[in-house]
Amino acid sequence: MDSPLVAAIEAGGTKFVCAVGHGPEDIEEARFPTTSPEKTISRSIEFFNEVQERKGKVKAIGIGTFGPADVNPESSTFGYIKNTPKADWSNTDLGSPIKAALDDIPLAFETDVNAAAWGERQWGAAKDLNDFIYITVGTGIGGGAVSNGKIVHGISHPEMGHLRINKDDSVDPFEGSCPFHGDCLEGLASGTALQQRWSQDPSELSVEHLAWELESSYLADAIINITLTLSPERFILGGGVMDQKHLFPMIRERVTSRLAKYIDVPEPEKFIVPPGLGAQAGVLGSLALAQDMLK
Ligand SMILES: [Zn+2]
Repeated sequence: MDSPLVAAIEAGGTKFVCAVGHGPEDIEEARFPTTSPEKTISRSIEFFNEVQERKGKVKAIGIGTFGPADVNPESSTFGYIKNTPKADWSNTDLGSPIKAALDDIPLAFETDVNAAAWGERQWGAAKDLNDFIYITVGTGIGGGAVSNGKIVHGISHPEMGHLRINKDDSVDPFEGSCPFHGDCLEGLASGTALQQRWSQDPSELSVEHLAWELESSYLADAIINITLTLSPERFILGGGVMDQKHLFPMIRERVTSRLAKYIDVPEPEKFIVPPGLGAQAGVLGSLALAQDMLK
């Protein structure tokens, strides 16, 4: 294979996915629950060492992590998970112990959603696109943006999950589940919000349930706001909640009607799509980011 052998981690709040490979064809994975930082990091290193004994040394590592995270290579806390509400993980150095254990190879460190966006561009639903958005709707909501062919950063990374959204209290009196903002996008439309509002596993709600009217309305508002801000060519919507496939046509319809032809966007089926890499977008994106370190 032309591409180098590299390592990747998709660091999630509930599970870690570690992988070694050249690309989607030969990726070898291990998945385990996210426990304490010490245990989870050493388990990741054990996996990499075991695979390296069989396949040879990896040349770089890419980590796509839950956040907030310090993704600025110039920062003294680059590679850290910052002030996360997740117990034990606040201000944890995730990058350097793993980089050190792998002979100090180059480290790419990104948010999970930026990594997923990058994976979709390399191998999935955003091939050859320079301007697109990846949004995951799961336990939380996160968004990664690629603009002019580059992952968007600024003072930190984008936090599209916490956008302010129109809400009609007479239809939806739920106060929202976000510990920081209450009824931001994540507080209204994440899997956590659905579970709290309806006291039921969202996957058990019927297709006709009011939950999906609200869900598609909130996600459509977010998509419209991001469209008006960044002018992307495509939205890729992943995460557990988006396994409810009936949401796609509902969201497309609301986006189209609320944009009211003010701007031209691609036809709805091409504008708002599921991930091409499914649940592997994050780990494959981390692999692609590792390979980019060697270019
Ligand atoms: Zn929030």
